Amino acid sequence: MNQADRENQQLVLALSKGRIFEDTLPLLKAAGIEMVDNPESSRKLILETSDPLLRVVIVRATDVPTYVQYGAADFGVAGKDVLLEHGGEGLYQPIDLNIAQCRMSVAVQKGFDYQNAVRQGARLRVATKFVQTAREHFARKGVHVDLIKLYGSMELAPLVGLSDAIVDLVSTGGTLRANNLEEVEHIMDVSSRLIVNQAALKMKRERLAPILAAFESAAVKG
Ligand code: AMP
Repeated sequence: MNQADRENQQLVLALSKGRIFEDTLPLLKAAGIEMVDNPESSRKLILETSDPLLRVVIVRATDVPTYVQYGAADFGVAGKDVLLEHGGEGLYQPIDLNIAQCRMSVAVQKGFDYQNAVRQGARLRVATKFVQTAREHFARKGVHVDLIKLYGSMELAPLVGLSDAIVDLVSTGGTLRANNLEEVEHIMDVSSRLIVNQAALKMKRERLAPILAAFESAAVKG
């Protein structure tokens, strides 16, 4: 195989550390691919796999759609929460992998009368990382909100008076309970999806198709 052919056949998969990486391993296995490096024990950002023509890049969860959109990665795995904030431009989203499942919810400090605050038409201060999703949710309800963008530890915001409410991902509910917060509204269920660069899908279809098919048949059924 010459250099040009090799580059044409080389695939890059973008993943984030943690649950998405862990939950993607069985899907890779179904496609006959094992990881050689582990991101938890290695500081490498480009990881080799048992397939010499497939490499995994480890990026922040919110950056996965950007790497795939610009073709720096051919495909990736990203949560619905991240995709809604990104907008999905340039991305083909063929499969809901049903991994890293959780829900997006509105939460407030226990004892805060959320229903009354919403009913009275006052402006609600909402802290979140998910500004687009929160904006759309409250616009649909006709609730006026001041959105405060945070990058993490949203649970702290109502406790120190930064906001009345937060919009965040909830899995077991343990983090909310530990911080004296309660869910008052379920916005949507969230899971992770496979995303593919549209140009790669055309140019590298032969290489991608069997991997996508293996992911699809191994994906947890919704
Ligand atoms: P839990 O305490 O299990 O409800 O988890 C809540 C915390 O984990 C919050 O800080 C969430 O932002 C985060 N979290 C839960 N599920 C996910 C997920 N699927 N992806 C990213 N973050 C998550």
